[in-house]
Amino acid sequence: MKKIIFLLLIIYLTGCSTLKQEEKDNISENEDVIQKKEITIEDYKSNNVNELGKVPIMMYHGIYNKKNSETEYTGGNIDKDGYQRTSESFKNDLEFYYNSGYRMIRLTDYIDGNIDVELGKSPIILTFDDGLENNIKVTGLNNNGEIIIDPNSAIGILESFKEKYPDFNVTATFFVNGTLFGQEEYNEKILKWLVKHGYDVGNHTYNHVNFSDIDEQKTKVEVGSIYEILDTIIPNKYVNIVALPFGSPYSLEHSNMDYIFNTSYNNKNYITKSALRVGWEAENSPFSNEFNPKFLKRIRAYDNDGKDFDIKMNFNLLENNKYISDGNKDVIVIPNSEQNLLYNKYNKKVITY
Ligand SMILES: [Zn+2]
Repeated sequence: MKKIIFLLLIIYLTGCSTLKQEEKDNISENEDVIQKKEITIEDYKSNNVNELGKVPIMMYHGIYNKKNSETEYTGGNIDKDGYQRTSESFKNDLEFYYNSGYRMIRLTDYIDGNIDVELGKSPIILTFDDGLENNIKVTGLNNNGEIIIDPNSAIGILESFKEKYPDFNVTATFFVNGTLFGQEEYNEKILKWLVKHGYDVGNHTYNHVNFSDIDEQKTKVEVGSIYEILDTIIPNKYVNIVALPFGSPYSLEHSNMDYIFNTSYNNKNYITKSALRVGWEAENSPFSNEFNPKFLKRIRAYDNDGKDFDIKMNFNLLENNKYISDGNKDVIVIPNSEQNLLYNKYNKKVITY
């Protein structure tokens, strides 16, 4: 009996090691295929690659744990204008972006011209304003002292998509006010968790002020005090970007803009590289000569039955002019017809076809 068990064990172990070798062979073969497959002009043509196309920057606020049928407005809007949305509608949005060939990139990478998206796919950027509790609702701490996140808050939903679609490159930028995420005992842990897990945090002013209504001195305090908080909790890990409350001022010419872009507060100087507007449509490619990183438009992520620049209307428009990647972040690929729109300030290799 013992001999039989011993024999079976030997057969089993031999089988295991054979399988492992086969697996190894398969992996190295696959790697060879990936390395040998060069992207050609034919690939650009068949994928309609155009790296001078438009990029959607989506603007969200609150995500409420509700079904769409539980609101009195269309498509999961919680309020009439769709600034607040249901968790069901947010999940639907994410499925829609993924299935329409969009892959997420960081806002700061877009501004810096680092668009790392696979061949034939298009970049999309997610932003959240106001630091609402339902963006990342903490329900407690685990045994290791790490935050436990409500799976129905925005981050909980984003994390579930990260698992479901690893190639979605899930990320987002959160723009906070003085109360951060409104959870006093967890705020610091939340900021650190976000940075550690590939999300970004930016500036939405201390008191959610309208810059058109305040003077230079107050502007410096409103911008500088948020940078000071971020600098204390996540030094060098936050983004120097201001999402303008109410999208105001509406022009770069406004006298307060200088103090938004260059602020001194408590003897420290803070440079802002971009201000985000409340726009209505997709932005230019960072390689376009019409790209102005200082003043970026955002699409309000809401549903209005395909009217008034809601998600559906914007993504229908994008079908004709969206950014489609060549799969190489160091090369700009554009159709011949778009050549005159190029401004290659990042000095990347350019291929036209
Ligand atoms: Zn706001």
